[in-house]
Amino acid sequence: MVFKAIDLPYAKDALAPYISAETLEFHYEKHHKGYVTKLNEIAAADSNVASKSLEEVVKTSSGKTFNMAAQIWNHDFYWLSLAPKAGGNPTGKIAEAIDKSFGSFESFQKKFDEAAVNHFGSGWAWLVREQNSNDLSIMSLHDADTPLAHGKVAVLTCDVWEHAYYIDYRNARPKYMEAFWKLVNWEFANKNLL
Ligand code: MN
Repeated sequence: MVFKAIDLPYAKDALAPYISAETLEFHYEKHHKGYVTKLNEIAAADSNVASKSLEEVVKTSSGKTFNMAAQIWNHDFYWLSLAPKAGGNPTGKIAEAIDKSFGSFESFQKKFDEAAVNHFGSGWAWLVREQNSNDLSIMSLHDADTPLAHGKVAVLTCDVWEHAYYIDYRNARPKYMEAFWKLVNWEFANKNLL
């Protein structure tokens, strides 16, 4: 095994009742690890892929290889963007950066919700910063697309593929976003700032 998923940083039932253990079982074990299996199959047949770090593969590949590598990276980042007993208002540097870039937390939350809920089809809502500053913006990216491929630094993400919420909320993506705000890991966001 060349590539692997991060170990989940909490128990599978730790995000309940907002995101169930059943969702984590499918999302982490089947979807996330499924991308790992497929990228390792590609790497087994291509030493150029096998010799690179996951980030290097994301930045230099296209097509199926990019999709698998980016989905591994995106999911690693997603699990870290959530935490049990988290959520609420941001604290520390991220609170200041959000106020500076969006005016207020409420304004940011509204824009992030719109990016997530209105995203058509599968994809990701991202809070990102510039390489050299804590200037924040929101990106709504399709399928496996990732800020790494756009020269931005990821700060937080929300997976809006249906597999992230269908077991718990069926088609109600806005309900899943309410859950996201109960779990968002501001401590992790602070680590991703300068
Ligand atoms: Mn996913």
